[in-house]
Amino acid sequence: MSTRDTIEAIYAAVVRRNPGEGEFHQAVREVLDSIAPALAAHPEYAEAKIIERICEPERQIIFRVPWEDDRGEVHINRGFRVEFNSALGPYKGGLRFHPTVYLGIVKFLSFEQLFKNALTGMPIGGGKGGSDFDPKGRSGREVMRFCQSFMTELYRHLGEYTDVPAGDIGVGTREIGYLFGQYKRITNRYESGVLTGKGLAYGGAQVRKEATGYGAVFFADEMLRTAGESLDGKRVVVSGSGNVAIYAIEKVTHLGGVVIACSDSSGYLRDDKGVDVETLKEIKEVRRASLAEYVAARPHATYMPGRGVWEVPCQVAIPCATENEIDAAEATALVSGGCAAVVEGANMPATPAAVRVFAEAGVRFAPGKAANAGGVAASALEMQQNASRDSWSFTYSEQRLREIMRDIHARCYATADEYGMPGNYVAGANIDGFRLVAEAMLAHGLV
Ligand code: GLU
Repeated sequence: MSTRDTIEAIYAAVVRRNPGEGEFHQAVREVLDSIAPALAAHPEYAEAKIIERICEPERQIIFRVPWEDDRGEVHINRGFRVEFNSALGPYKGGLRFHPTVYLGIVKFLSFEQLFKNALTGMPIGGGKGGSDFDPKGRSGREVMRFCQSFMTELYRHLGEYTDVPAGDIGVGTREIGYLFGQYKRITNRYESGVLTGKGLAYGGAQVRKEATGYGAVFFADEMLRTAGESLDGKRVVVSGSGNVAIYAIEKVTHLGGVVIACSDSSGYLRDDKGVDVETLKEIKEVRRASLAEYVAARPHATYMPGRGVWEVPCQVAIPCATENEIDAAEATALVSGGCAAVVEGANMPATPAAVRVFAEAGVRFAPGKAANAGGVAASALEMQQNASRDSWSFTYSEQRLREIMRDIHARCYATADEYGMPGNYVAGANIDGFRLVAEAMLAHGLV
């Protein structure tokens, strides 16, 4: 069978064996479409059925999460942890609490995480978890009870050498605190390295909170510099207004760019003077309120309902909201608005059709598994500090993050060149991530 036919047969099997999991199929398709040249160069991968093994999670856990709301009503949610691959280290990846979470979303995130983690060059495997719990409108006490119930099952699958969760959408420092407290209570172990994204008061690391957003902007900066440009003076649109978006906006501003729009699930905000990150933090981190409230503090800004954020003309776009948030029409709108670079802060925010639009228009495009790897890289630094009972300064931690992002950029760029696809960061990231995992799997034998 030719390499192409082998890949098509593997993809067909993935679709058949994982019915109804569209996002997972999409993530697998994207990787398989890139790695043909690596397979042709390494026949030993096909012989050992590396791709088939990589596409099958090592373990998938689904569990019931019962909890009581403030009125005493009982709710049942579903919890997930997909431990995809431990060739490079303990399973590592966040937990997402959002009503759209189901097995297909967790599997796609976990699969992406595997290659992303490999690209960081740090000893971490790939995993992801979460629940269809909707934290919106829930009191702090309800969120705490939910986290405690969730951890009451999950704890038995975790460990600093086994599986180390962190945050993702709907899971931040507050939730990690409740999860850690419950883990400690059940196991009677103060195992700092079992969760990352912890608060600074009890084993968390400097720059972890900022790392995904900062890292994406460092990647954007590297990409622009390689093309002889910089972020200085650029008009930038960042979608979302959660943890990734807030710190992407902060770092773009530090580097001289102007973020003129951001968004939430109901609409988008436009502030031509540049989004004020302190106002945003106050609304989102302190008050946990709606983005629409920004206009009260900065009356020259406007908040519009709907998904029009990608219609705001910009030179650089940093999607930091969620998967498939940019379709072909929105990509076309970005291109006509003069956008020359797209850097994914979220996981898989551009649909395959949108990625094609960018490629045809010559827009530089950085896929999330490379560009947003700063978050998990800082998690690995947190694990390192926990293991040595040490804590590093903000400045040193940020410098480490910057070096890691520079290395990720360099390896994606070099791999794309090596395989004759200069400037193709998607191919560079997929081939390099795949090679790193494949080599470790070969070394471990058939396990
Ligand atoms: N959820 C984040 C990501 O998508 C962070 C994972 C982690 O720190 O383990 O990479």
